[in-house]
Amino acid sequence: MTTVVPGHWLGVMGGGQLGRMFCQAAQAMGYRVLVLDPDDQAPACQIADEVIQASYDDDHALSMMAHRCSAVTTEFENVPAASLAALARRVRVTPGASAVEVAQDRCVEKSFIESLGIPVAPHAKILTINDLENASVELLKDGILKSARLGYDGKGQCRVKDLASAVAGFDEMGKVSCVLEARLDLAYELSVVLARSVAGEVVTYDVARNIHHDGILSVTHVDGQSDEVRAKATQWASQIAHGLGYHGVLCVEFFVLVDGRLFVNEIAPRPHNSGHYTQNACVTSQFEQQVRVMTELPLGNTRLLAPTVMLNLLGDVWLRGPEGNYQDPDWNRVLCHPEVSLHLYGKNEARPGRKMGHINITASTMEQAVSVANQVVAELD
Ligand code: ADP
Ligand code: MG
Repeated sequence: MTTVVPGHWLGVMGGGQLGRMFCQAAQAMGYRVLVLDPDDQAPACQIADEVIQASYDDDHALSMMAHRCSAVTTEFENVPAASLAALARRVRVTPGASAVEVAQDRCVEKSFIESLGIPVAPHAKILTINDLENASVELLKDGILKSARLGYDGKGQCRVKDLASAVAGFDEMGKVSCVLEARLDLAYELSVVLARSVAGEVVTYDVARNIHHDGILSVTHVDGQSDEVRAKATQWASQIAHGLGYHGVLCVEFFVLVDGRLFVNEIAPRPHNSGHYTQNACVTSQFEQQVRVMTELPLGNTRLLAPTVMLNLLGDVWLRGPEGNYQDPDWNRVLCHPEVSLHLYGKNEARPGRKMGHINITASTMEQAVSVANQVVAELD
């Protein structure tokens, strides 16, 4: 294969915020971007050079994309694997359908990770009520039932306290295939974002420490420090990328338990919310890295330039006016801190829990970044 040089068209499946930030990185390097999304007002569609408004399995749309683009990527894992495979018969597609397919199903994902000798949370595959009845007492006593497919930001999950609550949750989810996972005593959560080139070279970013609220990422801290746990997480993430024969940007999420054990939570075959800090704090952002992999340019340097805090901006911030009225934050007061970089996704409707944007706070010390973050959070409250 040969390098796709700037000036050519790159295609992205999906027009959400990750697609938008991919567009920005690709356009900054002189590429033109074609976005395929069923919604032509989606965040990436607002800035793409061209949009195909169609469903992800529309044969004609896929043909147009393959015809126009020199390489295609995806911004989310739920694009039908068959569509990626169909595109791949005509154009370079990264990541490949088979790797994306693993991340689409929590059961397949967990089995794959375990097959590499890497631990995941104790769990049982739930296809029928019978599987729930046969699940271990420990899982039923304090578990989380997760739909195997299509979950995100804590959606498609429910707490389980006993068989009755498990059956009720399974019913509510429409009896789709699920995993019942032990609810773990978490000390904290980590993630590793990496890029693996078509030639199999891997570069990893510094480990991110993540705080979630209600299943949604809220805050990411990256200080560039390392320890045994972070070194192991980085090693396992690379092992997963190699095991998948992965080409592209990959994120691996980890649980660190109070007793010190490390488990892989899940993987995302794309740039990740916990890697947004790379936009302001690293030599090469995760989105530029996605461009470099798909065009077969050399991978960029992942070096962290300064400690960073990333704050997610959820719709709730816009809805905090009197009686939940829509009200824009006072950006002057947020941006009066010179360490703050604002990223908004162009969504004009705020809903609770909806990701509207994020803020990166890059400072000379972590203490300073945290102090600014606290002031910004107080402004937004
Ligand atoms: P999603 O695909 O929605 O990101 P996750 O499985 O990553 O789903 O769950 C979202 C968050 O919920 C996690 O980051 C973590 O904070 C919490 N969580 C999920 N599974 C567990 C678990 N088994 N034990 C404790 N907390 C969990
Ligand atoms: Mg997750």
